Amino acid sequence: MDIVLLGPPGAGKGTQAKRLEDKYGLVQLSTGDMLRAAVASGSELGGKVRAIMDAGELVPDDLVIQLISERIARPDARKGFILDGFPRTTKQAEALDKMLADKGLKLDHVIEMKVDDAQLVDRISGRFTCATCGAGYHDRNHKPKVEGVCDRCGSHQFVRRPDDNAETVKKRLAAYHSQTAPILPYYRAKGLLQSVDGMAGINDVTAALSRILDGGAARPAPSPAGAVVRPAKRAAKPAARASARTKSKPARAKAKPVRKPAPKARPKRAKKRPIKRRSKTKV
Ligand SMILES: [Zn+2]
Repeated sequence: MDIVLLGPPGAGKGTQAKRLEDKYGLVQLSTGDMLRAAVASGSELGGKVRAIMDAGELVPDDLVIQLISERIARPDARKGFILDGFPRTTKQAEALDKMLADKGLKLDHVIEMKVDDAQLVDRISGRFTCATCGAGYHDRNHKPKVEGVCDRCGSHQFVRRPDDNAETVKKRLAAYHSQTAPILPYYRAKGLLQSVDGMAGINDVTAALSRILDGGAARPAPSPAGAVVRPAKRAAKPAARASARTKSKPARAKAKPVRKPAPKARPKRAKKRPIKRRSKTKV
């Protein structure tokens, strides 16, 4: 399943892409990460990329396409990918389609995370974090209980990211809209474009995305946040997630067989060990 996720900076694309990656076994492809990884790998292509970046120029589309092409040929991408941050122009979209077609692939979904610009500016520009423990706060929605004191660790030091100010956020949004506007009709004409309400809660957004990926919502109905329903909710639970991935047996079948009657004093069964995360940028 091959997906393009569109949305302005701050819409939560990274967070959602990560969740979809885990849930559907896809790999998230961020062009920035791929470019850095290529340079770090010292490959021939990486050398080209480095020369271009050192010269302060934009990496040309065909190189980016080539990077994507190589990346998706790797075994961990066999179930598909989520592209985030690319394409940004119609030309790139066409080049991507062509590269995929040459491999016998095609995009399955292009999903736009819609945001309310004013709300997003408000959300991002109020953020600050504890310099000591990293706890996140917000000027309006989530202040420390005692002003100037971190709830979690008691620190008095807070930091703001310099680009989390209203002016910068507005500029990023304007850039996003002017760049992306042309590719929306391109994908709409192909019947690929759907949208979700990016301003809904994180879990609601994941649910809406999952519905699209599961083939449920055929219509891009901008539904109220409340309209999030059962299937997605269920899918968010780890058991269902595991079974969706392996597909072979219902999660429940696992629980019943081998259990011996346990002696009373037996301590609770150890929790499943957390699955190790694949490292992202290894080349
Ligand atoms: Zn703190």
